[in-house]
Amino acid sequence: MGRKRILTGDRPTGRLHLGHYVGSLANRVRLQDEYECFFIIADLHTLTTKPGKEHIAEIAENSRQMVLDYLACGIDPSKSVIYLQSAVHEVCELNLIFEMLVTVPRLQRVPSLKDMARSANLAEMPFGLLGYPVLQAADILMPRSHLVPVGKDNESHVELTREIARRFNSLYGEVFPVPEVMLGEVPTLVGTDGDAKMSKSLGNAILLSDDRKTVEKKVMGMYTDPNRVRADIPGRVKGNPVFVYHDIFNPHRAEVEDLKARYLKGRVGDVEVKEKLAAALNAFLDPLRDRRQSYEARKGYVDEVIYDGTMIMRSEARQTLDLAKKAMGLSAIWNRISRKAEETRKKREIPRGGGEGA
Ligand code: ATP
Ligand code: MG
Repeated sequence: MGRKRILTGDRPTGRLHLGHYVGSLANRVRLQDEYECFFIIADLHTLTTKPGKEHIAEIAENSRQMVLDYLACGIDPSKSVIYLQSAVHEVCELNLIFEMLVTVPRLQRVPSLKDMARSANLAEMPFGLLGYPVLQAADILMPRSHLVPVGKDNESHVELTREIARRFNSLYGEVFPVPEVMLGEVPTLVGTDGDAKMSKSLGNAILLSDDRKTVEKKVMGMYTDPNRVRADIPGRVKGNPVFVYHDIFNPHRAEVEDLKARYLKGRVGDVEVKEKLAAALNAFLDPLRDRRQSYEARKGYVDEVIYDGTMIMRSEARQTLDLAKKAMGLSAIWNRISRKAEETRKKREIPRGGGEGA
């Protein structure tokens, strides 16, 4: 038995941000020696809310930028497989098989789907969006993975994957592990606007690829305690996004504690708190920027990474689908029919082939 496996990934809808880092990427980087890792560029999942051709036209470039984000974080393609979902056709077949093992009311109870429909301005739920977590189960179980590092909004999807794996195994025999979810140290990172979730589509994100000036500008515009209209008014630290970020990204604990104490007493201006935050974030992002630049300089490298990973995943996918269909007795149907057909054809051909002539 080899190492245990991880599957996780992202939709190629834009560049990755600090929320992705603390929610999932940090765990991926940390675990890539311990686990055999598969990272999916979930482009079929983007179709659930963005099926238009203009969105599809952006997938290739978004995927490249996203893989550069991965590499910048320290994901190493010589250790981990990075692949393009839509180039692994087996996932659609496994998805269909899994669709039979889950009910519509169960899917309607998945909390994130309604949020996604709302933020995509969809009046009614598309069939494919309702099936989002089923397709995700097919992704996760395709390499028969054991662990899924994701942010909080994906927790209920992994729960559904576990149910599908159990149901499949009990109906047809043990094929799939029942994978565990692993939430990041920060399961949901708040947005710069104070919204509960930093998100690509909400315009409240600090991107891993933002330059120093952009980070400074975004931090200076951040939402803080709205009641604190002057620097000498005592402010709220708890739940204040500026201090949430300080706690996560500023390694100088004494500086953070000093800022908090003065903020609570009304003895520090927002500007100082924010300048120190911008400095901390830039120090955190600098090594990522350097790595990103060095990979960007290698022309064609990212495409090669995706190509190689996808070829590996294709062969994994064929093996798993084979196991699943054998366990179900599905492959036997065609095997029997094609064997019979060949035998019949041979029998019919022998007299002619036997040289006896007519
Ligand atoms: P979109 O707005 O297109 O849905 P997103 O920013 O929500 O994009 P996803 O591709 O849906 O990003 O999510 C990829 C992974 O990152 C998931 O595991 C998700 O849970 C995690 N993630 C995304 N945003 C955050 C966040 N703010 N905090 C923690 N984890 C996050
Ligand atoms: Mg999302």
